[in-house]
Amino acid sequence: MKISFVIPCYNEGANIDNLIVELKRVEGKLPSYDFEFLLVDDGSSDNTLELIKRAAQMERSVEYIGLSRNFGKEATMLAGFRHATGDYIGVMDADLQHPPEVIPQFVEALNSGYDMVATRRVDRKGASGRYNFGANIFYKLINFFGDDVKLDNGVQDFRLMRRSVVESILSLPESSRFSKGIFSWVGYKTHTIEVEDRPRVAGETKWSLFKSIRYGLDGLVSFSTVPLRISTFLGIIASAAGFIYAIYIVVKTLVSGIDAPGFATLACLILIMGGLNLLFLGVLGEYIGRIYKETKRRPLYLIRESSLKQK
Ligand code: UDP
Ligand code: MG
Repeated sequence: MKISFVIPCYNEGANIDNLIVELKRVEGKLPSYDFEFLLVDDGSSDNTLELIKRAAQMERSVEYIGLSRNFGKEATMLAGFRHATGDYIGVMDADLQHPPEVIPQFVEALNSGYDMVATRRVDRKGASGRYNFGANIFYKLINFFGDDVKLDNGVQDFRLMRRSVVESILSLPESSRFSKGIFSWVGYKTHTIEVEDRPRVAGETKWSLFKSIRYGLDGLVSFSTVPLRISTFLGIIASAAGFIYAIYIVVKTLVSGIDAPGFATLACLILIMGGLNLLFLGVLGEYIGRIYKETKRRPLYLIRESSLKQK
């Protein structure tokens, strides 16, 4: 029985050595299993790749893949999933925010019949208030509008799955890969373990405000077409209101003579309607841009080097 862990690493030079120590400890705790720790370097600009390569030389269970540049965590995880050979396949971060101590619990849950074990952070000590606020809005939106996904605020990528679940994930052909949504979309019997949130051991987070917003938008657009429909409804409401108002003006003019005040009303209406037009052109653009991206069928990552036998 083999357990693989995919570990995306981007500029984690300060964490790799600690990480390897922790991983060895996990191996020691589960001696009846074979382990494969697949460290995927996402085009780091520090010494991450060097450290990973050294670890792969020294430890039998450590393998590495080096991508040709920074492709983002989603693509990096995908590369790992495609090459992981375990019967159980998991993901964890390289910064030790995901406590490896719970891995034996993962294995136990899968052995008892679950297909996937996920983790939920119990409190977000590591995150700022601004981040929490944004995240809460995002989860409300995606749960309300999303098709076939339910996302729990605080659920992390840190998880272990049966190989069949990973194969299902890989069978989704889309190139905009919002993994949190995909993990939920594939279904299967999932068990969620609560884990304490831990601060990063070293290095810094790669999430800027801009990146988080883009990630949220990606998630919404990947799993919902409701934003497109909102414009239809607003259009219906606005034009209905316009017709009613037109009738009202005609009747009023017939009854009480010519009357044409309301420059301010007009200006406001033009601004509001113009604004809504642009807003929904933008929404359309989001979807069209993604259709364009999908049709190009570009690979989501390129592998520069690897310790694995070439597939
Ligand atoms: N990561 C990656 N590519 C990127 C950004 C991040 O592979 O472009 C990895 C990173 O090395 C870490 C994990 O994804 O192992 C999570 O990143 P981070 O700790 O910055 O996110 P946070 O924990 O703050 O959500
Ligand atoms: Mg982190």
